[in-house]
Amino acid sequence: MEVVTSKEQLRSWLDKHPHAKKVLAPTMGALHRGHTSLFDLARKKAGDGVAVASIFVNPTQFGPNEDFGSYPRQLEVDLELCEKHGIDLVFAPPADEVYAENASISIHEKSLSTGLCGGKRPGHFDGVCTVVAKLFHLFRADAAVFGEKDFQQLAVIRRMVRDLDFEVEIVPGPTVREEDGLAMSSRNAYLSDAEREQAPILFQSLTDVAKGISSGRLSSPEEAGEHLRQQIELASLARVDYTEIVDSDTLEPLDKFGIGEPRLLVAVFFGKTRLIDNVGLPSS
Ligand code: AMP
Repeated sequence: MEVVTSKEQLRSWLDKHPHAKKVLAPTMGALHRGHTSLFDLARKKAGDGVAVASIFVNPTQFGPNEDFGSYPRQLEVDLELCEKHGIDLVFAPPADEVYAENASISIHEKSLSTGLCGGKRPGHFDGVCTVVAKLFHLFRADAAVFGEKDFQQLAVIRRMVRDLDFEVEIVPGPTVREEDGLAMSSRNAYLSDAEREQAPILFQSLTDVAKGISSGRLSSPEEAGEHLRQQIELASLARVDYTEIVDSDTLEPLDKFGIGEPRLLVAVFFGKTRLIDNVGLPSS
């Protein structure tokens, strides 16, 4: 496995593999099994080609009061995990390598990113789209893997690829969870012991409400969304940011069941730590 930190080095590595299919796994590091499952997927998807990854804490997707400065960074450990999971090349640049000092162009998605996390984190998805577009170009990617854990991000990236004609296949990977159901996240490391103990309430409530919708026990999205909020609020340390039941393609809030495929999404604060999770309905 090779590690490069500049665009120039990345270009010369790619020039040596002109005909190889390139499958990219973009990450911000602090890697866990959620990320490594995507590396495995990228490796499989690449076949005879190359599986490549980026480790870059992207400043433009963090708001002024968010955790950019304190986001966990552990490059040495991360590189070992990349190597173990079949990654051929890692691009781990400093921020000034990625963005020109007077960079003045960004990508703005104006529909899918208005609600859910986008509504709570203004500018976040513009930062995500801009960096992902740059990474697609820099890596000359043929395909890229993204986790369903960040469901809105996956939808926004798919829309960007469609609307801006990127020739990159987007490959989704399922959410990887701890044994108690908590979705793996680099931010779980911020949780206190007491918060960590209560955090599985997100997945428990999501699966319970998804079952309730499937069985007809919860008959309207409004009722189901309210039920979801109430269940999560049973955890004394949880502060709900949002609970939403949306159409999984448009991300528009559903006003009734029976049309479209429902997706249940939540964002919940434990102290300063904001956790997100989502599920679809159980397959019957
Ligand atoms: P991040 O490092 O948080 O930017 O995440 C990099 C990629 O890993 C994104 O495509 C995420 O959706 C994905 N990811 C993060 N956590 C998980 C998880 N628990 N299961 C599956 N994919 C994940």
